[in-house]
Amino acid sequence: MYEQSKKLFDQAKNVIPGGVNSPVRAFKSVGGTPIFMKSAKGAYLYDVDGNRYIDYINSWGPMILGHAYEPVINAIQEYAGYSTSFGAPTELETKIAELIVSMVPNIDMVRMVNSGTEACMSAMRVARGYTGRNKFVKFTGNYHGHADAFLVNAGSGVATLGIQSVPGVTQTVAEDTLTVPYNNLPAVENLVKEYPDQIAAIIVEPVAGNMGCILPQQGFLDGLRYICDEHNILLIFDEVMTGFRLARGGAQELFNIKADLVTFGKIIGAGMPVGAFAGRKEIMENVAPAGKVYQAGTLSGNPIAMIAGYTLLQTLNDNPDIYRQLAEKTAYLSGGLQSVLNAAGIVHQVNSIGSMLSVHFAEYPIIDFDAASGANNELFKRFFHSMLEKGIYLPPSAFESWFISNALTIEDLDETIAAAKSSIASLK
Ligand SMILES: *Cc1c(COP(=O)(O)O)cnc(C)c1O
Repeated sequence: MYEQSKKLFDQAKNVIPGGVNSPVRAFKSVGGTPIFMKSAKGAYLYDVDGNRYIDYINSWGPMILGHAYEPVINAIQEYAGYSTSFGAPTELETKIAELIVSMVPNIDMVRMVNSGTEACMSAMRVARGYTGRNKFVKFTGNYHGHADAFLVNAGSGVATLGIQSVPGVTQTVAEDTLTVPYNNLPAVENLVKEYPDQIAAIIVEPVAGNMGCILPQQGFLDGLRYICDEHNILLIFDEVMTGFRLARGGAQELFNIKADLVTFGKIIGAGMPVGAFAGRKEIMENVAPAGKVYQAGTLSGNPIAMIAGYTLLQTLNDNPDIYRQLAEKTAYLSGGLQSVLNAAGIVHQVNSIGSMLSVHFAEYPIIDFDAASGANNELFKRFFHSMLEKGIYLPPSAFESWFISNALTIEDLDETIAAAKSSIASLK
């Protein structure tokens, strides 16, 4: 079934570390051979062996309207003819910045970068430059990209591979990263007391998507806002995953909470390598060349990437009903999975919000990294493979959120629920 993928993976391992250009793709935690893809359209992926899959990864988020979304593909083709890069400003960069500022609450200015990693790394530099403080708080199991300072108790691939401390990240750098459990306000309060006037920022995934999908508990995000206000700390919402996904204006809009800086990635580039960070004018004017906090990129604001992102964001902006449809599909899938699991008598937690979802095999609520780690992830592994054999492409780790795209039909969701039913039966 996977002969070509196996062959390509063996070949890749000779010249690419682990055979992949981003660790979670390697299927390490679930075992087996990663599937090499050839093409995709709408809700479906097609691999090099000719298998078809219903996609619940959606390139880890960007494909919110499905793969090869025609307006995006057409725009890319048109703009490619004008040159793939100028290294000079274009009108398009102002247009996408205006669009983002109009969609997202509490931001006046935005700087485009090339990945979510760059966005978070740069936002933290701005927060440090603005406050004149060095330390920051992050939450265990949250992932903010692979910049040194963030690779302390990180989620996503770092959690999947079970890496405790990352070789190459120096002690000096790690010392400025203070970590506490997600959803634990008292722990944040204690840290803030322990390090008075030393904390520049609290960075948080407003919905955690890199240890499964974990919702903020009632009062958690409000509490962070309150603590930040009390202590002149900047609140950074890492909306690389939730931005343009949970609502047009992301988690800030959904939960009605103001962040001081916001980071974006994934959907913002419609599948092209794009990230961005944004905030109020007073903060963002510290970024070079307006201010002294240096930040740059040869290919930042790349025209092909910008037109792809602009086209997708415009569609989301003009059709807010998409978010209602996505939420309905997610609720349908969540309900279907829960009834199948209930009928089979398997303990489980299905967490979902907007178009994010995850399944954990545990009897207790999954509210933080320890809870996610304590679930039966051995069972998840077998569930994953059984679903894959039935043509359902789930994230290859219990520490990742599933993404629902609007290309999915009710028939696709029914097919997925039916596959889950027979998978569960075969696992018992
Ligand atoms: C994916 C992700 C990042 C990193 O983005 P890259 O584009 O992979 O560098 C940062 N933060 C969050 C919340 C993410 O989900």
